Amino acid sequence: GPAAEETCDVLVIGGGPAGSTAATILAERGRKVVLLEKDRHPRFHIGESLLPLNLRLFDRLGVRERVAAIGVHKPGARFVSDRHGGKHVEFAFANGPNPDYTYAYQVRRSEFDALLFRRAREAGALAEEGVRVLDVALDARAGHLVVARDAAGRERRWRARFLVDASGRDTFLATRLQSKRRYPHHHSAALYGHFRGVAPYGDAPEEDGNITIHLFDEGWIWMIPLPEGVMSVGVVSTPEFFKRRRGSFEDHLRATLAGIPSVARRMARAELISPVTATGNYSYRSRVMRGEGWLMVGDAYAFIDPVFSSGVLLAMASAEMGAEAADAWLDDPARAAPLLRAFERKVDRAIRTFAWLIFRFHTPVMRDMFMEPRNRFRMREGLIGLLAGNVHANANRQLPVLAFKASYYALSLLYRLGYRYRSGGLVREAG
Ligand code: FAD
Repeated sequence: GPAAEETCDVLVIGGGPAGSTAATILAERGRKVVLLEKDRHPRFHIGESLLPLNLRLFDRLGVRERVAAIGVHKPGARFVSDRHGGKHVEFAFANGPNPDYTYAYQVRRSEFDALLFRRAREAGALAEEGVRVLDVALDARAGHLVVARDAAGRERRWRARFLVDASGRDTFLATRLQSKRRYPHHHSAALYGHFRGVAPYGDAPEEDGNITIHLFDEGWIWMIPLPEGVMSVGVVSTPEFFKRRRGSFEDHLRATLAGIPSVARRMARAELISPVTATGNYSYRSRVMRGEGWLMVGDAYAFIDPVFSSGVLLAMASAEMGAEAADAWLDDPARAAPLLRAFERKVDRAIRTFAWLIFRFHTPVMRDMFMEPRNRFRMREGLIGLLAGNVHANANRQLPVLAFKASYYALSLLYRLGYRYRSGGLVREAG
């Protein structure tokens, strides 16, 4: 017959950054938390470049030093565009609007995710690996019934008062509720691997820790420095671009990198040290984020695009808010209602802020704004504010971001009238 039912206050599906964050916070509040991860840590994951506001969450979880020990110090982001004469611009987080968080880290996700998972276990969560959730019967009155299978093939069953879906791109609940929606105008895919021997940007004698985004006509390349001289290199482009592939993923990655001058120079002596992985058409959002006694956090709810390194921050920040709302719900569902509404509103607002920028990233106006970020209209502050992940900031800190958006709309109009933005000023395009 079926396995005996175990009980818990909260069951968390998925032991990535979102799941481990939620489990840690709830276990620290004294809740009986079960955290189930289908894989075994350390396991490979993409999403290696973090943002300054992640530091606030590391402090809250008490892991800042542990992250520092496995991370590469990231002072900011550099954008390079061969089309803009091979020139580059740098956005240093230290110049951003938030004086408390002036840098970030880049991490091997295998180590980072293992660290956060261990932290949840230390906090008292029953964190199990090799256990895949197969089925859930939502039932806020009797407790949600969760059926899983462990590594030995045995069935396990839990009754959970509250359910947190942190299953990442597997989108466990959104798939079953058929609530997953693709973004109609944004389709990208990525191809990536780890290399050794990638040259630093420009004439720099050594790697400075910045993420470099190399723009090309059909997309962009990321170069993320990791510990021990390893560089994560990835191409983001349209599904059409990847359909033109001849040969293996590795061939296509190499050919693409060789075709972009500023990238080719850096790759001249590089050696591939990992398999090449592809992720197709990954932008989506679930129509619903929560229901009676359950909610979704991180990629289980939505993911748009990695261009601003916002995925892990949104995953951990939504998990933090979701955990607090769940904790209140366990005491009194009625009193938790405003918290749950605030959770939903804030997560959606953060996603909308990044979506606004991401959907415009390929336009000539936005690319010129990136490559000519003179301090007109407080553009640089606005940009760094966005890049620093300042999405929950107060109105005062949002001001540069609003100014940046206003500039974008004003410039778009002027572009239609034949103007271009060059060297911090407007010029009339000849012809
Ligand atoms: P995940 O990290 O995916 O964790 C979910 C976990 O749930 C997994 O460990 C999975 O094994 C487990 N799981 C799934 N289903 C089940 C089940 N049924 N039972 C048990 N366990 C289950 N973000 C950044 O911040 N910086 C970047 O530079 C960046 N680059 C990216 C590049 C690409 C190409 C892509 C596609 C994404 C990138 N991201 C980046 C986004 C980042 O990967 C995610 O936003 C982040 O990992 C989300 O964390 P999460 O905890 O929600 O999900």
